[in-house]
Parts: sequence; structure tokens; C-alpha cells
Amino acid sequence: MSRKASIPQPIDRVRKIIVAIDGPAGAGKSTIARHLARHFGLLNLETGAMYRAFALKALRAGLSLDDSAALEELAAQTDIRLESGDTENRVLLDCEDVTGLIRNQMVTDAASRVSQFPAIREWMVLRQQKLGAAGGVVMEGRDIGTVVFPHADAKIFLDAAPEVRGMRRFDQMGPKPAQQPEEVIRDLRERDRRDRNRANSPLRAAEDAVLLDSTNMTLEEAVKAAEEIVEKKLALRKLAAGPSTNSI
Ligand code: C5P
Repeated sequence: MSRKASIPQPIDRVRKIIVAIDGPAGAGKSTIARHLARHFGLLNLETGAMYRAFALKALRAGLSLDDSAALEELAAQTDIRLESGDTENRVLLDCEDVTGLIRNQMVTDAASRVSQFPAIREWMVLRQQKLGAAGGVVMEGRDIGTVVFPHADAKIFLDAAPEVRGMRRFDQMGPKPAQQPEEVIRDLRERDRRDRNRANSPLRAAEDAVLLDSTNMTLEEAVKAAEEIVEKKLALRKLAAGPSTNSI
């Protein structure tokens, strides 16, 4: 596997901005990232979609989701691309558009499992670093502010109580939900447990991330708060860089 890509340098006054949004499942990351992308004129990149696309490929190949070596081999023969779209990223798996195939429960669970393996994470992180290297992106996931872009200009760690996250997910399922609310909450807790406890790049807030707990907020309020956090960071960045720095 290629190990050529490197993390962007901490002080790059010409590079466009990088906004990192991390947090557990169902915290509202996608909605907020989408909004920030529109507001600040950035590309929105959902890294979870990449894990999902790879999980879909592993499921199709009939691989055991515990077989790290087989998964690593599969990754070496895989190409995953993200394209920014109006509502969500278009996801290309080996040139096939799989956008509509990666949000079901089976792929969701498989993505959570394949993302435990260090070799798979390294492979993903390199691709994500390449995608965002030129800046001008808001990237959301679990390890963006800690591992993928530790020098991101603005980092938000978005959280909410599991029950609130679960109910938001349930409400998004429409009139014929595939699961009961308690099942949704149970699955979220299980995914959180895996994400927070894995040895390699566990889900946690970067030291310099701003914590945004949306438990008692509407999504609109959380979006507004996130916007203010990024505005503040941008103002500080301009101050630190002096008059000659490019804007976004
Ligand atoms: O964000 P989303 O729910 O689409 O992510 C699917 C799965 O991919 C998560 O459950 C998580 O385990 C994994 N993931 C990750 N690191 C990221 C993004 C997603 O481990 N940066």
C-alpha cells in the first residue's frame, strides 16, 4: 500500500481552510457539515461514506468482517472516491456509484466493524488526507481532528446524549421505520462503544476542538453555533497571519 501522502504542514498561510467535524453517530455531523460547506464555500467530505463503501465491497465479496488480512488485501484492490453533492456525497466504489446502497442497516453495522482494523484505517486516512490536502474542505468523521488533519483550522467535536441521537435517527426513518426507537438507540450505543474503544484512532475530541453538545438544541441552533465557532477561528487565523494572507 502507498504511504506517500503526508499530513499538511501546520503553518501554511496560502492553503485554504480545513474544518474538521468529529463526533459519534447521529450527532448531526452531516447536517452541520453540509451547512458549513455551503456557508463558507467549502467542499463537504463525509469520511463515513468511505468506510461504508468499503464495507459494502467486503459484504459483496463474502469476507468475514473479522478477517483483518483478507480485508487488507481487498483494500489494496479498491478505489473509493467522494464527489461533493447538494445533499450528500456521491460515492464511487471502483467507479460504480454506490451512493444509494450504503445507508442500510447491514452496511452501517459492517462499516462500524471494518473500521476497527488499523490497516484499513491507515488506508482510509491516506486517501482522506489526499482528498483534503489542498484545503477548502469541511471533513466529517471520527478521527479528522485527531489523525487525518491534526492541523485543521477549526475543529468541532459534536456530541449529544445517545437517546437524543437515537430519536433523531428514528425520526429520519420516515413513516415506515425499519427499527423501533429503542433498537436504534441500542445500535448507536454499540457503534459508539466500538468507535471509542478501538486501539487505533479511537473516537475522542482533539485537545483543541471546540465541544458542541447539541442535546438541548434544535439542529438549527446547533448549525448556528457551529457557524459561529468557525467564524471565530477564521477571525483568529486572519489576525495571526496578518494582512497578506489569502481568505478562504
Ligand atoms: O459517519 P458514518 O455513520 O457514516 O460512519 C460509518 C462508520 O464508519 C462509523 O460507525 C465508524 O465506525 C466508521 N468511521 C470511522 N472513522 C471515520 C468515519 C467513520 O471509523 N472517520
